[in-house]
Amino acid sequence: MTHSLSHADELTIDTYAQILRSGGVVAFPTETVYGLGASAHQLEAVNKIFALKGRPADNPLIVHVSSYAMILEFAAVIPDSARILIQKFWPGPLTLVFEKKKSVLDAVTAGLTSVAVRMPEHELALALIDASGPLVAPSANKSGKPSPTRVSHVQEDFGNHIPVLDGGNCQIGLESTVLDVRKSPFVILRPGSVTASMIQEKTGLEVIDIAGIPDQIHHTPASPGLKYSHYAPEKPVRWMNSDECEGQLHDSTLYLTHSGDYTPVKDRVVNFNRDYTLMGQSLYDWFRRSDKLHSLDIAVQPFTESDSSTCQPALENRISKAISRHNEK
Ligand code: AMP
Ligand code: MG
Repeated sequence: MTHSLSHADELTIDTYAQILRSGGVVAFPTETVYGLGASAHQLEAVNKIFALKGRPADNPLIVHVSSYAMILEFAAVIPDSARILIQKFWPGPLTLVFEKKKSVLDAVTAGLTSVAVRMPEHELALALIDASGPLVAPSANKSGKPSPTRVSHVQEDFGNHIPVLDGGNCQIGLESTVLDVRKSPFVILRPGSVTASMIQEKTGLEVIDIAGIPDQIHHTPASPGLKYSHYAPEKPVRWMNSDECEGQLHDSTLYLTHSGDYTPVKDRVVNFNRDYTLMGQSLYDWFRRSDKLHSLDIAVQPFTESDSSTCQPALENRISKAISRHNEK
């Protein structure tokens, strides 16, 4: 990969890559969310990630690569159809689950026979991985907190203990789509901004989206991480239609709406005006802000017209998970 970085960026990347090569941990930006990176080939470094995040050991990590050659350090087989996906969608927010090579650390895959790999679409991330080698990089938040989409979010969770490579705010703001490419048709294990319809349209390949089927999420051994309640703020979250607002919207409710026809009447009402890209970029920031504002709960307008040409299915998935986390309590 060739990258056009400033001299200052190159110096920073060199320093951070050196930390990673010697078994340390750094946070870095990607187009989805900030990642907490460690060398994917060093067991002690990988273990540090689980300890720092408080992440359960049965929740596997995604390996981040910056070249096609690096995929071969992890994937035992790259099916021909997966090569088409790589051509069309990488670098980008699409994680592919392959049969793993024997040499891949069990800690990375939580003992599974598969490994998840992606190439982020972010020049700082790619330059860092070029210099450090492949990295495991779960979201740079404490387990259970919303994923960080700004440098300040990483600092909220880790203080100044972890160096953070500053790439500004994340462009997408929602975690990558996770797609199992070991069997045909491919299966979406976690929805993201690359949707089943986008994959079908660009490649003609058939894709099943099981992530929207709640019962299967809990019973799918293929993707153990999905059973955990990520993505949730401290405050309870619920769906609420805009026409239900009258009388039901407490002054203390943060209300996130997206339909263009609703005019916010209160300070704590945000309208994304059908801009799902903007909603994806800022959802976790609002979740985190609600924890600091003195709001008692968060209400979100349900999605009535399904739009799978955008990140709307991913938004719906993350918001539903945040809602069910509080219902479980
Ligand atoms: P995070 O890095 O926190 O966004 O989480 C990564 C998620 O990717 C995990 O929680 C799993 O759901 C999924 N994942 C990672 N590795 C695998 C794998 N080998 N097979 C299936 N899903 C995986
Ligand atoms: Mg995460």
